[in-house]
Amino acid sequence: MKLQYLGTAAAEAMPALFCHCETCRKARKAGGKDIRGRSGLMVNDTAMIDFPPDVYMTSLRFGIDLGAVRDIFITHSHGDHFDMEELGMRANGVFCHLGEHDDAPGIRLYGNDGVRELAEAYTKANPADFFTFTETVFGGTYRAENGVEFTFLPARHMESEHSGMYLLEDPAEGKRVLYAHDTGVFLEEAFALLAGKRLDMVSLDCCFGRRPGGISGHMGLPENRETVSRLREIGCVDDGTVIVIHHFSHNCGQLHAELEQEVEKDGFLVAYDGLTVTV
Ligand SMILES: [Zn+2]
Ligand SMILES: [Zn+2]
Ligand SMILES: [Zn+2]
Repeated sequence: MKLQYLGTAAAEAMPALFCHCETCRKARKAGGKDIRGRSGLMVNDTAMIDFPPDVYMTSLRFGIDLGAVRDIFITHSHGDHFDMEELGMRANGVFCHLGEHDDAPGIRLYGNDGVRELAEAYTKANPADFFTFTETVFGGTYRAENGVEFTFLPARHMESEHSGMYLLEDPAEGKRVLYAHDTGVFLEEAFALLAGKRLDMVSLDCCFGRRPGGISGHMGLPENRETVSRLREIGCVDDGTVIVIHHFSHNCGQLHAELEQEVEKDGFLVAYDGLTVTV
């Protein structure tokens, strides 16, 4: 499975839009891996997890063909993960001309109750037939056109809706990946759904860097380490599992190189925009 990070920051991006803090000033100066857009992931070039507001510029930076995307799986309705107005540019024959993809039903959009509300409000204001919507339920599995299966797991995040994360399985290659951001320490229901499933890669929310962040619906490194050891205990993680940390906030106070140094002994990979991991 090919996983490419579209963005690796929390809601405010990094450096943050309006921020003059020391971390953001340093990040602006450093550039490169310290410029982080809002989070999303490309899966085997034709499926996505989340549709962040920076997706247009990200697609240009990393040569991503958004016209080839067939399935989009949204984790929750926060604006850094789902920009419905931007997705509206997929209206074929008006805002884009896709030739071979000029087929109904266009994009297949998956998301929870909060995402459904936003999608319905958009369709009400802009009658649209370029996407179909499927509401995801916890424990439900949804197959993308490229054959990868996405299982929706409960996250510890928004209480006003069914906020989730995704387990990806490619039956053809026998690979499994857990993409888990915008969650505090996992709920017991999530551990139960994962138990015994060996993972080739785990991508964890590390909003707070070296600081603890478990009560905020996000994690820091202390919770990441705790989560990895719990996943090891229940048979999900072994020495061959790639552990990636991402979704960083400027409030973590650390630049990319400092994060790399911090997790050297853990063997974690620090994500950056455009990073591709193949498992
Ligand atoms: Zn987020
Ligand atoms: Zn800042
Ligand atoms: Zn969120």
